[in-house]
Amino acid sequence: MHRIQQRSRFRRKLLAWYKTSQRILPWRQTHDPYAIVVSELMLQQTQVERVIEKYQAWMKRFPTVRSLAGAPRADVIAQWQGLGYNRRALYLHRIAKTIVSDFGCVFPQTVDELVQLPGIGRYTAAAVVSFAYSAHEPIVETNVKRVVGRIFLGYKALLHAPEERLWRVAHELLPRDRRSYHFNQALMDFGALVCTAKRPRCEICPMQSICASYPDILRARPEQLRVKKPVYEKQYFGHPRRIWRGKILAYLHSPNAKHGATESAIGKAIQNDFSAQRLPWLRSVIFTLVSDGFVQYKGKRVVLFKT
Ligand code: SF4
Repeated sequence: MHRIQQRSRFRRKLLAWYKTSQRILPWRQTHDPYAIVVSELMLQQTQVERVIEKYQAWMKRFPTVRSLAGAPRADVIAQWQGLGYNRRALYLHRIAKTIVSDFGCVFPQTVDELVQLPGIGRYTAAAVVSFAYSAHEPIVETNVKRVVGRIFLGYKALLHAPEERLWRVAHELLPRDRRSYHFNQALMDFGALVCTAKRPRCEICPMQSICASYPDILRARPEQLRVKKPVYEKQYFGHPRRIWRGKILAYLHSPNAKHGATESAIGKAIQNDFSAQRLPWLRSVIFTLVSDGFVQYKGKRVVLFKT
């Protein structure tokens, strides 16, 4: 099939599928760039299902960029609890302060300006200009990479495809009119619901006739379907360090640690079998929270950083 023909059939099929199968997500009910940035940062490392409730609670607590900018850091972190990777909450707080102080509360409208903000990379910036301003901008996140790669390159070539190539293909696929907003949303939904990572649902897929991976992909080995390399995280007492960081912050936000806590009180709160030999390790974890601006030492007590 000719390349141009394949692309226009793909666009048509995708948008038709999206009309009947799209996900209803709260951040799609708005074009407010602040709300889009909140949802995108939450979605960076957390599953959609977990984000929905947290997003709604966040927007209730901090409905505008100004309300977030003016909130104490400890409240921002407390509101983030349960999403993990707390650094993202600090990024959001810093973004809000910058937008209020340097941009008069108005988010920039270009990818180049948005990527200057903390925690915003190329994908997030593209998502903001596409979803908030309906700009003609491709977005390439994990789902999109997989869909575009499998259909236009083939699942084997996708394993070695440079990121830049996928951005190029996504750009060429983008409709030239205002449908690009829906097209980008549709690509993500299609990757989340049909062309899924481990078990693509080829049997019900409307792309079979134009897909470079079909039907060979049905015989693929699991490692041939893995676009994202598994990230190895060093374990400490059964969990990676980020989990212990989260547990420490959750404890310091609890009523039991209203006035902070000593290192050993923290150790006992987060581990049933905590002993004094683990204090150097615990201190090293607390230091990472100090250097990220989450907590500080007041004498021998560790307290939440308040600004
Ligand atoms: S046919 Fe299979 S591999 Fe191709 S797009 Fe559909 S689900 Fe993905």
